[in-house]
Amino acid sequence: MPAQPTSRVPDEAHQPPDEPLWCTRCNTDKHLLVNSIQSHYPPAPNMVDVAYECHVCRYSYQQIASVQRVAAVLNRPGISQGVLQFGGQYLHCGEPMKTSSCELRRIQTPLVLKPGGRLRMYEVLINTRILGCHCGFRMEIPD
Ligand SMILES: [Zn+2]
Ligand SMILES: [Zn+2]
Repeated sequence: MPAQPTSRVPDEAHQPPDEPLWCTRCNTDKHLLVNSIQSHYPPAPNMVDVAYECHVCRYSYQQIASVQRVAAVLNRPGISQGVLQFGGQYLHCGEPMKTSSCELRRIQTPLVLKPGGRLRMYEVLINTRILGCHCGFRMEIPD
């Protein structure tokens, strides 16, 4: 039986451990793809819940890590990481995307409200936000 110090405090009472993102099967971090980043709760300075997978062995991981640990994998050249959502922010190329413009979109849709009723056109107005990344990637999301 391994010896344990009697004064050991549960991990929850401390700052969460900041382990690097790592595939324990391949024993490397070279093939990791970050799937999602969420704000950690309870809030810890600079810490996030991160979900990622190794695209070689297809094994998924979830852990708490500092933003720097996540950025180390995200900012690696060569692997396209796509769009990530992070606490209401969208990230592309490892950086938060900036709102470039807001637009009011008018969507027309034909609807029949009553059975046997007439087909009529109804108009819906929605606010959208256009987000842009410095690489030129753009994305429109409902506000
Ligand atoms: Zn792996
Ligand atoms: Zn980009």
